[in-house]
Amino acid sequence: MKFDYEHLTPHQNCPACGHPLSRAGGEEQRPEAGDLTVCLACGAALSFGPGLLLVKADLSALGFDELAEIRLIQHTLARAKKHHGH
Ligand SMILES: [Zn+2]
Repeated sequence: MKFDYEHLTPHQNCPACGHPLSRAGGEEQRPEAGDLTVCLACGAALSFGPGLLLVKADLSALGFDELAEIRLIQHTLARAKKHHGH
C-alpha cells in the first residue's frame, strides 16, 4: 500500500473538539494503532485505535515518558498559538 505525505491517516474529526484532522501533527511516518498524538486545535491527547481512528487517550494508562511527550507537544502548541496572536 502507498500513502502520500498529506494523507497519512484517514480523514476524521477530533473526538474532543470536532476539528477536522487529516494527519498526525508532526508525524512524518504513518502512525500505528496505539500511537499517541495531540489535536492541533484543542490540545487534547489522542491515541490511534484500530483502523487508525482517533480516540481520546486514556491518560491514566500512560507511562511517565508518554505523558511527558504529550505535555511537551501541548506546551509547543500553546506557544505557537500565542505567537500567532490567539
Ligand atoms: Zn481537538
